[in-house]
Amino acid sequence: MTDEPIARLGALFASARRPVVFTGAGVSTESGIPDFRSPGGVWDRYDPGALTWQRFIGSAEGRRRYWEIGRQVYPVIRDAKPNAAHVAIATLWTLGRLDCCITQNVDNLHQRAGLPDDAVIEVHGNATRARCLACGAAFSRDEVHAWLDDGVPVPECPACGGVVKPHTILFGEAMPRAAWSEAEARARAADLFVVVGSSLVVYPAAYLPAHAKAAGATLVIVNMTSTSFDHTADVVVRARAGEALPALLDHLTPARTP
Ligand SMILES: [Zn+2]
Repeated sequence: MTDEPIARLGALFASARRPVVFTGAGVSTESGIPDFRSPGGVWDRYDPGALTWQRFIGSAEGRRRYWEIGRQVYPVIRDAKPNAAHVAIATLWTLGRLDCCITQNVDNLHQRAGLPDDAVIEVHGNATRARCLACGAAFSRDEVHAWLDDGVPVPECPACGGVVKPHTILFGEAMPRAAWSEAEARARAADLFVVVGSSLVVYPAAYLPAHAKAAGATLVIVNMTSTSFDHTADVVVRARAGEALPALLDHLTPARTP
């Protein structure tokens, strides 16, 4: 990593009025949460077909299988800690240099690093929360997993007996409407849109940088590998998120002339 693109990125954050950060799996891999799509990850051992909306909604057996897999996968998220990238993004917020963070991640690590809930727009949901699809009652994921640990095979709402579902978007499920329209609006209003740790292959989330760019934002991509949007980006930083984001904080103050 050379310093030059980082210095440019720092200068962009220093002068932007509405800087938006858009994060993907690459921001959380350094916290030990594997990318869904990378080979050898935890999720590789499970059939994605078992994790679809249709299977979950379709039968109690589908939900039993979902929670069986969840009992093995969720502890990875529960036990993860925010890394230097999450902390740097929270620092940008504290310094008044961030409009919001739109994230494809469901691990709650942006909030645990210190970003307030209303500064995080979760387009794929949040794995640490669950709710009843019938009455809307909210539960923490830990609470639901305590029921599973007690031998309940398929959690049901204690109030109404309805289906309890994690607050994440399953394969084949529609995007959460409120979060998605907020993400689109913030992307269009941004004057700086910084993609961090996303290979931009999952749609519709991958449309957001295009929306931002079309509306006039400066587009920056911070990612370890190339993306199909690199040619439209104003700055490309080829680096780990946990390396690039803390480094840019050193460049937030414009250099003073003596
Ligand atoms: Zn209920």
